[in-house]
Amino acid sequence: MFYSFSYTFTFLFTTLLFTSSSSSHIASQPATKIFITNHNIQSFTNAGKGNIITGISQFKTYLSRFGYLINNKPFSDQFDASFESALIKYQRNLGLQVTGKLDSNTLSQMITPRCGVPDTTKSRGRHRKNHIHNTTHFVYFPGKPRWSRDNDMPITLTYSFSREYMIHSLSLQEIRKTFKRAFSKWSIVIPVNFVESKDYSFADIKIGFYSGEHGDGEPFDGVLGVLAHSFSPEIGRLHLDAAETWAVDFGVTKSEVAVDLESVATHEIGHLLGLSHSSVKEAVMYPSLRPRDKRGDLNIDDIKGVQSLYGCNPNFRSQWSLESDSSTNHGAKFGVDTFRLSMIGFTIVIALFM
Ligand SMILES: [Zn+2]
Ligand SMILES: [Zn+2]
Repeated sequence: MFYSFSYTFTFLFTTLLFTSSSSSHIASQPATKIFITNHNIQSFTNAGKGNIITGISQFKTYLSRFGYLINNKPFSDQFDASFESALIKYQRNLGLQVTGKLDSNTLSQMITPRCGVPDTTKSRGRHRKNHIHNTTHFVYFPGKPRWSRDNDMPITLTYSFSREYMIHSLSLQEIRKTFKRAFSKWSIVIPVNFVESKDYSFADIKIGFYSGEHGDGEPFDGVLGVLAHSFSPEIGRLHLDAAETWAVDFGVTKSEVAVDLESVATHEIGHLLGLSHSSVKEAVMYPSLRPRDKRGDLNIDDIKGVQSLYGCNPNFRSQWSLESDSSTNHGAKFGVDTFRLSMIGFTIVIALFM
């Protein structure tokens, strides 16, 4: 864990080197970026309720930005009760150890690049099933919005790329292929098809790369910090931060701050479909992603979440859906598997003693 902390810490410095190291700059930092130095880190990790420590206000601004504190700026530098309870909610939502303190794992998480969509603590999925995966962590947006059409499922949604808001470090062809793969990961598991359209203005889903303030009240913050954001159904807007070093192949893009486009695209499509952030660290819908990391394969939590909104693609039969279809078959299924495993083990034991 120490390794991962120093790892992200290095990247934080990469971005902070562009700014001064004086504490007066904490106030001018974007709400999405945390400012930590070797000098103040220990005062944060040691801080507890009642303490007043320069720089605590930036954590309040950060937690407010991502949905954990009511925005009643300017925030004070006091470690107060509402800050502690916001920290606890944050730690719980991000699958961290719940300490109510700015411990090193929490600081490490806060400086890891992430999605700009605030974390939702309401409308948590309650799709519990009586099988081995007995707890779900996927979350919907408030009101559980989803795409619908008159004739309902299956539905087809069109998507299109902005020609104006585009990056040129990757070819349009590479970007199109990457998004096609990302959309197909979702369409395999639910009865929703995605088709690229050249008609940007009429497409259901509009994709573009934007810099800084770009008209929706959620300005991008430069390298790392917030990587992308998108909107709940049926708004259909997917925005990526043009300041990132987007990569489709880390063998080609060597930058230390390179971000995997496919992982982020897959995550943002999850939002477009109606999923909010999951606390499962392996899930595509977990909010953060380290530079040069990939998390583009749907986790069972993602699949359960999106299928509870749209139902199952009839052509998709996962191990999980086979298990959950009929709890009465569990005993028989696992019985057979256990029997087979016992027989294999038994055969190996016999072979060893022959
Ligand atoms: Zn997100
Ligand atoms: Zn935007």
